[in-house]
Amino acid sequence: MKVLVTGGAGYIGSIVTEHLLNNGYDVTVFDNLERGHREALDPRATFIEGDLRHANVVHEAMARVKPDAVMHFAAYALVGESMQHPERYFENNLGGGMNLAAAMIRVGVPKLVFSSTCATYGTPSRVPIDEDMPQKPDNAYGESKLCFEKVMTWYAQRYGIRNVFLRYFNAAGATDRLGEDHEPETHLIPNVLRAALGRNPAVRIFGTDYPTPDGTCIRDYVHIEDLAAAHLLALHENIDGPYNLGYGTGASVRQVIESARRITGSEIPCEDAPRREGDPPALVAAGEKALKVLGWKPQFTELDAIIESAWRWIRQYPEGYRTSV
Ligand code: UDP
Repeated sequence: MKVLVTGGAGYIGSIVTEHLLNNGYDVTVFDNLERGHREALDPRATFIEGDLRHANVVHEAMARVKPDAVMHFAAYALVGESMQHPERYFENNLGGGMNLAAAMIRVGVPKLVFSSTCATYGTPSRVPIDEDMPQKPDNAYGESKLCFEKVMTWYAQRYGIRNVFLRYFNAAGATDRLGEDHEPETHLIPNVLRAALGRNPAVRIFGTDYPTPDGTCIRDYVHIEDLAAAHLLALHENIDGPYNLGYGTGASVRQVIESARRITGSEIPCEDAPRREGDPPALVAAGEKALKVLGWKPQFTELDAIIESAWRWIRQYPEGYRTSV
């Protein structure tokens, strides 16, 4: 089976690519390397360097590969940036996505697995969040992902594309070779581990007055290997629709820091900071649908296991992919 992976040089896309290749799929990666890393490309995959915002380039790639399915990861994914520059998010995540969809229709690709997000729910009326709850994003990032889900739902009706929308909660952790490396880094776990390494002076805790037990935000951190496994299940021809990918357990910012202190043995200095714009207080998945319908069997549901894998990776690559090993 041939799979075209957009964003296969990025954090989640590279790790799913590795899983696909380990399981015998024929993979072509399409990536502009703007935020991804050449070092994260798997040498077993064919690589096409291109940008989704260029419709003709996307169409040429699609026509050349004629994949059985597209997995679409390429996107901007920073909540804060999306509030400062919403146009970037709509141009790339929605506009680029629509070019991809148009190419799929022209070439007749029957299946899409889309990297969506719990940010499409906004601040939920209750947690855990199930797939039928209203989608009202709090930030432009979530809105851009939701818009693309909606476009693809209409295209599915007209053109018969089978869409799987994988709404990730907080992807975290690493494999032996691949991990999280953004510059600037905005995500909690890599920032906590950079502080443990002494690369950052202190962790800034964004908001300590949320309506949660310790006042800091709660997220459902999911190991990247479990996320990758869900993508392979999503390729099954009978699977479509939205799936929340989370464990149904939340950890607060302070709990993440405590876990990292245990694992790294480092003090990890912290300082309280104001809330970050667009952050809902708690996002935790009701993950039953993924377990029952997708047949997902998560393996790394302990926060310590996630942080341990991220810690192993960052010690091996203290400067990210620029580190020569
Ligand atoms: N966070 C924080 N300090 C940081 C980075 C993140 O306190 O240096 C908080 C952030 O406000 C959110 C949680 O940690 O409540 C998870 O943020 P992250 O950026 O990792 O993921 P998001 O939930 O935004 O996708």
